[in-house]
Amino acid sequence: MKNTLLFLLMITIASCTSKQPNIIIFFTDDQGYADVGCYGAVGYETPNIDQLASEGIRFTDFYVPATVCTPSRAGLLTGRYPVRSGLHEAVLFPFSEGGIPEEEYTMAEMLRDNGYKTICIGKWHLGHKPQYMPLNNGFDEFFGVPYSNDMDNHYYRDIDFQSPPLPLYRNEELIESGPDQDYLTKIYTEEAIRHIKERGDQPFFIYLAHNMPHYPLHASPAFKGKSGIGIFGDVIMELDWSAGEIVECLKEEGIFDNTIFIFTSDNGPAAGSAEPLRGRKAQTWEGGQREPGIIAWPGRIPAGLTSHEFITTMDLLPTLAAITGSELPENLHLDGQDVSKLLFEPAKTQLPARPFYYWSRDGEIEAVRLGDWKLHIKKTRGWNKDEQGDFPVSLYNLKEDIGEQKNLAMDNPEKVEELFTLIEGFK
Ligand code: MG
Repeated sequence: MKNTLLFLLMITIASCTSKQPNIIIFFTDDQGYADVGCYGAVGYETPNIDQLASEGIRFTDFYVPATVCTPSRAGLLTGRYPVRSGLHEAVLFPFSEGGIPEEEYTMAEMLRDNGYKTICIGKWHLGHKPQYMPLNNGFDEFFGVPYSNDMDNHYYRDIDFQSPPLPLYRNEELIESGPDQDYLTKIYTEEAIRHIKERGDQPFFIYLAHNMPHYPLHASPAFKGKSGIGIFGDVIMELDWSAGEIVECLKEEGIFDNTIFIFTSDNGPAAGSAEPLRGRKAQTWEGGQREPGIIAWPGRIPAGLTSHEFITTMDLLPTLAAITGSELPENLHLDGQDVSKLLFEPAKTQLPARPFYYWSRDGEIEAVRLGDWKLHIKKTRGWNKDEQGDFPVSLYNLKEDIGEQKNLAMDNPEKVEELFTLIEGFK
């Protein structure tokens, strides 16, 4: 009895004094489902990201709520479909006036309100006017660029607009115009490591949104030619190096066990591969929105599991809220849900099926998934009407047909009806 009481007392003290976990979201740009070694990459290796998977959970059905950069990032940081923040159509450009609305409550605001130091490194792409930039959306610090790396010194003929050289910011100050993109992955990595080493008593949230492997592809001299298959392989190898450097730093600092490390990308591949998925970036086929997704937290999450449960980046905000005990505003309409139980008990947790809506880059719902079934009702990209005719309503069983090849709509009218009703009822 005495021993039991002592044990309980020790547990209580331990739980009261245990520090909030640090959080790192390692977010690449346009990296496809098959652009990681443990997801089937061909021609190069990603040992560090693979190692991360072996120390956490590797998800096979991990989704982003958009097919392109801006809306995907809005969904990640708000836990809501991008349509809610009005950022569901295409992407923001250097000539755009808008950005993430002030009333959106971001993951960074949530964590900062709960005592976290919040750091944004890399590509923002939620509005480059001052009011939309990271420091006005929950981040204490920012080092990076406001939009994509191809918007560098670019002439937009259709609206007669010349964008400036890519602006590199430290917080709200423009510190360089047109930085050498060969070094972007390297300087972002060094920035993350500096923050980890110089951390104070606060837990930290680092949102590291690499520009690579978005076009134009760049790697530092140490990685150019390294893969032997061209610049794309070199770029991915450097991103893998980046992840490895950060994990190594966390281990050296003795905080890896108390850090939640999330790896994924914003949308499907432009340069890379989504095999065996159909489609790619900007398309609502699986290849546009299903991503490699790894979550590791060595102190709490079981190691080395592969999960086939369906989750999305919109789940991260409510999940991190639950894990960190962060409060959310009342009446906040979230589309993501808390999946922390799945993270802690992946072998025995089955999440209830819930609909997932595939929004096109033109701002319309083109498909919906529920359980193993996916219904497509239209296709603005990834379908050639001249060659293939009108797009037919298409139903696929993703469990049996991950490549969306066998249209089962004719044989399953009730399933088509059920899923069509979901699309009509989105609100
Ligand atoms: Mg992207």
